[in-house]
Order: sequence, then structure tokens, then C-alpha cells
Amino acid sequence: MVKARRRMGEPLRLRSIEEIKKRRYRDEGVVTVTSLEQAEVEEAVYKKLYDLSLRIKVNPVLPELLQESHKCYLLDFTKCQSPTGGFGGGPGHLPHLAATYAAVNALVTLGTEEAYNIIDREKLQQFLWGLRQPDGSFCMHCDGEIDIRGVYCALAVASLTNILTEELCRGTFEWIISCQTYEGGFSGCPGMEAHGGYAFCGLSALIILRKGHLCDLQALLRWTVNRQMKLEGGFQGRTNKLVDGCYSFWQGAAFPLIYSLMAEEGYEVKQHLFDARALQEYILGCCQHPQGGLLDKPGKHRDIYHSSYTLSGLSVAQHFKNELQILGDQDNELACTHPVYNIRPDFVRKAMIYFNNLEIPNNGNATNT
Ligand SMILES: [Zn+2]
Repeated sequence: MVKARRRMGEPLRLRSIEEIKKRRYRDEGVVTVTSLEQAEVEEAVYKKLYDLSLRIKVNPVLPELLQESHKCYLLDFTKCQSPTGGFGGGPGHLPHLAATYAAVNALVTLGTEEAYNIIDREKLQQFLWGLRQPDGSFCMHCDGEIDIRGVYCALAVASLTNILTEELCRGTFEWIISCQTYEGGFSGCPGMEAHGGYAFCGLSALIILRKGHLCDLQALLRWTVNRQMKLEGGFQGRTNKLVDGCYSFWQGAAFPLIYSLMAEEGYEVKQHLFDARALQEYILGCCQHPQGGLLDKPGKHRDIYHSSYTLSGLSVAQHFKNELQILGDQDNELACTHPVYNIRPDFVRKAMIYFNNLEIPNNGNATNT
């Protein structure tokens, strides 16, 4: 993975194992299914971190990010553009907004004109118009579910490829704002429970629309900081849920987005507002499969989704503005990722420069207003 030129901060050391132990969850005498699960996960995480603390004594460059193994595991993927615009999960699959988002991000990451030109922008815009709802929200696929992922995926691909028009996102920011819950995070659709993945989608989508200042930022920050688990160091997705590696990105990437909105309000953030060292400990010590690939939590299987988002979360934890904070071997350093798109910032810039020189297609109110 290509590295950015950044100012290197002091190398991070593992938290003391005694300190970690003290952070065990206290059930206050009330044993529930959730408290038992929490204790079980803490035990598994603690064992991993304890084991790591012993191995560090003989090999001080640990924990090591298994870069080559993860690359081999991740490079095997397929994608397919539908003749009606949008991409499916595989050849012949129904076009779907999540697969479309993944395909556009993969092509932008390849970063060549050949890759960019695979995207049929005219058809892609028609596809988005077909999924748009009168209230400004988007379905994930034709006749599919409507939730905040749809809005984020639609706005991310449209803004990257320069097909976003005012009409296409009319009413969208109002709909997103209506998804912010009493807890401060965002839910999948109005009236549901705040969730890390949905909060990321809502916040990123608002920032694409330059409407981030309209959400309740303080409540969002309070909710997000409280999702980091005390013992484990990783994030949970919702209140009272278990730690999960993928939220390293969904919750973690909300922080740089929040910092940028705070800066607009005149607050300068001087360091990460979550414990970046504890998050790196969890990822490197508990989420790596020894043969490559990453996982949700100890005891779970590795998969591509968790490999991608846990690594992205590791990148967020390592980078703060222009500073680097690396736990373990300095070769663990990952490239910086753009917190809105989860693509390297230089690739985002390059793609935007390319597509912004092309005319915006105007399917207008083609299929749905
Ligand atoms: Zn997960």
C-alpha cells in the first residue's frame, strides 16, 4: 500500500495489560444475555491482547500488519455493469446501489482513464433517477428497500463522477436530517435506532451536499465517542451492542468529518477525539486472520467486508491531520483514506478533475420526481 508523506509522531506503545484488565464491564449484579455476551467477548479480546503483550517482549516491532497476506486475500473480486446503468454484485446480477458504489470506488482507485471510461455516466444518472423517491431518499435497487445507505451511495457516485444535479438531490438533505435520532447518531430511516453505518452514511451525504452544519453536531459527537468500547478499544455499532472490527471505519471515519465541521464553527481539534491507540490494538491484536484477511471479533470468520472496513479504520486511527501515530512496526503504516469516500485522497482529486471536465448529463425528471 502506497504511503503518504506525513510527519511521524511518537511511536505508540500497547496499553498496560493491567490497565486493560481494570476496564472490564461491570454488570452491577444484573446478568442479561447482553452482559454475558459482553463478558465473553471481553475475555476473548483480553486473551488476545495478553498474548500480544507477551510476544512483544521478545519481538518489540509487534504488532505487525500482515499486509501481503491481506492483499492476496482481497485481490480476488468481480464486478459487472448493467446495460440499464448501475452495477450488480456479479455478472447478470440486478444493479444495486451498494454494488454500484463499490464498483465506482474500485474504478476510481485504479485511477486510469481506461477505468474511468468504463462508467456510463449518462446511464448511471438514469439509474439514480429511477431509484430516487419524491421525498429525496433513494431505494437500494429497483423496488428495493429505502434507507440512508441509498442516499450515501447515490450521492457518493454522483459527486465523484460529476453527474449530481440540484434536481437529483432535491429534498435529500431534509430527509437525512430527519434520520438523526434522540441519541445523536443517524438511523436507516426516520424513527429508527441510531447505528454506526447509518450515521456515517448520513454525515458523509450531508457533507457532500455541504449541509453538514445543519445536523446536531454536539449530539452526534457525544453519541460517536461513546461507541468506543472501554476494554476492547474497538467500536460498537449501536448502544449496548458488542465490539465489531468494521465499525473501526464506520464510527472512526465520522471523527475527521466531525473535525471538519467543528473547524467551520471555529473549533480547532488538536488530537483525535477517540483513543486511536486502543483502536489500533484491537485491530492488530484481535482482528487479523493469520493467513490474511480481517474479522469482526475473535472467534469469527474472516471475510472481505470486514477486511476492507477494519483496514480502513486502521488508516483513520493512524492518521490525524498531517500526523502519523503508528502502533507496532512502522511498516504497519497505511495510506490515508478520504473519510467521505474511503478512497485515497489523491485518487479522489484525480477522478474529480477528470470527470469535472466532462459535461453533466441532464436526464432531468426522466423517470421519477
Ligand atoms: Zn461488522
